[in-house]
Amino acid sequence: MKGDKLFKINIKCPECGKEKVLTLPKERSEIIKELYTISIPSGFICDHCFQAFIDKGNKIRGYQKVDFEVKEYRDLIDSYDNLKKIQDLYNKIISEVFNAEPLFKILITLHGEKNELSIDELKNITGIAGAVVKHAVFELDKHGLIKFDENSNKAKLIEKLF
Ligand SMILES: [Zn+2]
Repeated sequence: MKGDKLFKINIKCPECGKEKVLTLPKERSEIIKELYTISIPSGFICDHCFQAFIDKGNKIRGYQKVDFEVKEYRDLIDSYDNLKKIQDLYNKIISEVFNAEPLFKILITLHGEKNELSIDELKNITGIAGAVVKHAVFELDKHGLIKFDENSNKAKLIEKLF
């Protein structure tokens, strides 16, 4: 979008007064009627969800509090994003490592509640044989995805990938 087609507007939460400057496309106000509405989701400016009414001249005319915001849809997008990340990761590992199934399983397991697990714990959770777990852990360490400490026999996730 070109700069001259944009305008800035200061939006202020009607509930807590927190402000944020938004950049909006200008033509939006050219095609429409007297007033148009912008929906501000919670978490964008503050914790509140509200609507702002803006007139043709790009002036704020009022705000409307939104009492109930359906969040399931956003949660759905989040989990969809995660799903895509997991899939990308899977493809990456599969393409680089022979017999990568156990590696992937272990990596996913380390994304659970605990980011650090012993070989035994990994064995029990994934149902993969101990020797295979150990090999997989070495491979993941080699690829810089986890850190394996031979002294404590524990595998630790370096950073969450999704
Ligand atoms: Zn607020």
